[in-house]
Amino acid sequence: MLPRPLTKFIELFSKVPGIGPRQAHRLAFWFLKRDVYAFSMALKDLADKVSVCKQCFFVFDPSASSGQEQPTTCSICRNPNRDKTTLAVVEKETDLISIEKTKKYPGLYFVLGGLFSSTGRNGHEIRLKELSQRIQNDKNLGEVILALSHTAEGDLTAMELEKIFNQFKHLKITRLGLGLPRGAEVEFADEDTLANAIQSRR
Ligand SMILES: [Zn+2]
Repeated sequence: MLPRPLTKFIELFSKVPGIGPRQAHRLAFWFLKRDVYAFSMALKDLADKVSVCKQCFFVFDPSASSGQEQPTTCSICRNPNRDKTTLAVVEKETDLISIEKTKKYPGLYFVLGGLFSSTGRNGHEIRLKELSQRIQNDKNLGEVILALSHTAEGDLTAMELEKIFNQFKHLKITRLGLGLPRGAEVEFADEDTLANAIQSRR
């Protein structure tokens, strides 16, 4: 009944988190009445112009670099002024953005990509192997901050990570401290609360 491009759109957008088939139908007709090309260019740029940092797995725009060669790491990892002895492990990219906004954390990051849950890994690919390699290869590191949400899944993940970190005896392992209440997610904590939590880590 519907033209093929519409059914294709609906099929794809039904897979977007938080959008089911009904929402996807509505979106399809909403888009039809608007400047679809602006949206399609934005999606194309996401695919073409955004790279994932080899070191921390955050995103960056490789064409924004002034150097001759295209970089493989993000501007945070490449910044000579960042504290190379401290690594904050975060669940996801938006957590990193929230911590950066506080301007109270001078160190480096690692984006884990997900959390453990009581029913196993919660559908995401958690970069455990990559994290172990990073810690093994990075001789500057002295402290790893588990900057995870104060939720059941955050706690479980912290426990799993501590098991892995036990083999690296030289490292101090800390978690976000005071200020971040039970059930609080890093992404949604306000800047002052998050800044306090970083400074009172233990
Ligand atoms: Zn990076």
